[in-house]
Amino acid sequence: MRSEELKVIFEDVQGEKRLKESMRNYTSFHIGGAVDLLIFPEGTDDLRKILYLCNKYKIPLFVLGFGTNILVKDGGIRGVIVSLDKGFSEVRVVEGETVTAGAGAGLQTMVGFALKNELSGMEFAVGIPGSVGGALVMNAGTEDGEMEDVVQEVRIMTSDGEIKTLKKGDIKFSYRYSNFPAGSILLETDTLLKKGNGKNIKREMELFIHKRRLKQPLSFNSAGSVFKNPPGDFAGRLIESAGLKGFHVGDAMLSYVHANFIINRGNATARDVLRLIEIVKEKVFTKTGISLEEEIKIIGEDTENN
Ligand SMILES: Cc1cc2nc3c(=O)[nH]c(=O)nc-3n(C[C@H](O)[C@H](O)[C@H](O)COP(=O)(O)OP(=O)(O)OC[C@H]3O[C@@H](n4cnc5c(N)ncnc54)[C@H](O)[C@@H]3O)c2cc1C
Repeated sequence: MRSEELKVIFEDVQGEKRLKESMRNYTSFHIGGAVDLLIFPEGTDDLRKILYLCNKYKIPLFVLGFGTNILVKDGGIRGVIVSLDKGFSEVRVVEGETVTAGAGAGLQTMVGFALKNELSGMEFAVGIPGSVGGALVMNAGTEDGEMEDVVQEVRIMTSDGEIKTLKKGDIKFSYRYSNFPAGSILLETDTLLKKGNGKNIKREMELFIHKRRLKQPLSFNSAGSVFKNPPGDFAGRLIESAGLKGFHVGDAMLSYVHANFIINRGNATARDVLRLIEIVKEKVFTKTGISLEEEIKIIGEDTENN
């Protein structure tokens, strides 16, 4: 289905719509072909309409957070992407120590909100880019904590448009993994934090930011860690010990600062990144017998010539 046809199908849905948008502008890698139609729905009625129309016309649908953990292939994305960062981004205290955050809110907005209200529990998340929705799906975190530690409930819209509340116990979280129902869209979450001391919270956050600056190549475009750490080891250490630090395919390079980060030195294509991923997996497996598994989500289509 062409972008113009999609525009007609979705014309009754409120919210900004953009045709043939380059995904370079919506991913932290700054890589990727164009999506047929990108929609920024303003509320749950619009979202329900989008789901209904996608089901009716069998149009593929992808939910985008802030695009900090995805690689979009060079041929782009057929179908529709929804972004919740316009209508679903409120962060508020519901009562006492429960903070509710929209899935489209920035994780750093939530971190800043917790600090301002002297609520402790979100310190681990300081500096992790992305949205609250993306952080929940990825169970984002560090050795100092992860989303699973603070989540109480998550409201989702199922693929048939029903709004459901999932309690923490209904969701399985593990390292960079969650099992939200397939095709569902996360709307908002209630998190339980603890009353804390503003100065201590700030000090802890500054320490975590300092650690991050030392360990991560933050001046280059990337999607964070490309591979999950295998049990009991670190993907970065394995890549480094395979002699691959600084190795590159085109402008996609394994960072000298953190070998598990692929950085885009300027004009990397998804094809370059995918070839580099293949080489890393082969070399690490040959040297150690360990199969690395991607943490980043790879979506979209190849171009005609690859
Ligand atoms: C410099 C850098 C440092 C990083 N450091 C860390 C780190 O320390 N720890 C860590 O865990 N991660 C880290 N990351 C990775 C990334 O920031 C996290 O995984 C982040 O939580 C992804 O959020 P996002 O909004 O960008 O999600 P996206 O990349 O947009 O999407 C990720 C997945 O979530 C899904 N998704 C997003 N929103 C919704 C929704 N509302 N409903 C349904 N599905 C949804 C998408 O479909 C996709 O499958 C880093 C990335 C970068 C670039």
